[in-house]
Amino acid sequence: MGKEMELLWELQQIEQEEKKLIEVYNVLVKNAELKNLYQIILSEMKEYERLENALKDKREKQMHIEKEIKEIEKKYIENETFLYSGKIRNYKEMEMLSDNLKKLKDVKTEKEEILLRYMEEVYQLENLIKQISNKIRKMQKEYKEIRLKNNEDIDKIKKEIEKLRDRKLALTENIKPELLTIYKKIKLTKTDPVAKVIDFKCSGCNTILSFAKMQEVSQPTLPVYCESCGRLIFAE
Ligand SMILES: [Zn+2]
Repeated sequence: MGKEMELLWELQQIEQEEKKLIEVYNVLVKNAELKNLYQIILSEMKEYERLENALKDKREKQMHIEKEIKEIEKKYIENETFLYSGKIRNYKEMEMLSDNLKKLKDVKTEKEEILLRYMEEVYQLENLIKQISNKIRKMQKEYKEIRLKNNEDIDKIKKEIEKLRDRKLALTENIKPELLTIYKKIKLTKTDPVAKVIDFKCSGCNTILSFAKMQEVSQPTLPVYCESCGRLIFAE
């Protein structure tokens, strides 16, 4: 019985180690950092798209206003040419024409101011897009590195867990099924169903054992339970 209790103890150690590894495995699989970074990249990509659209829109507006300015210039030249063509019949006509020229000039100045503003905005958008694009590329690279490293860690843990399971299987083959059943039953309420007897005490609950128990434990023929906590106990 003593030898089997030691195997059971080893089984318990392995199961506790396995539990810890599974916890680590779950954290790695979830990988909050990676998921967080993924979300950040997505939102940056969305922002990039928004800026690209804004740039496209601004460039179209810029082109439109450039065309308008050219048309105004054309009209201005036409009016001016007419003014000096000698075809003017009276003063009123001349006054109207020069009025027109002045108006055209004012509109042109106004449009040129808008054009300048658009050009400035286009320049700023282009810079922003360049920055965000660099940022995204950097984050994507970082994401890939973390993901690869994470996958490596996951693989490593998986292998360790498998190794533990193999050892567990080998161990259980050498323990009587009845003892395993008792172990599993106690495990429903206690994470460590097996306890060592150290210095006359049950190491599970720290209670001093009775003289009769100490005798039972020293030469066990049947499973021995702690009187206080119900764990299986054994002496090394
Ligand atoms: Zn106990």
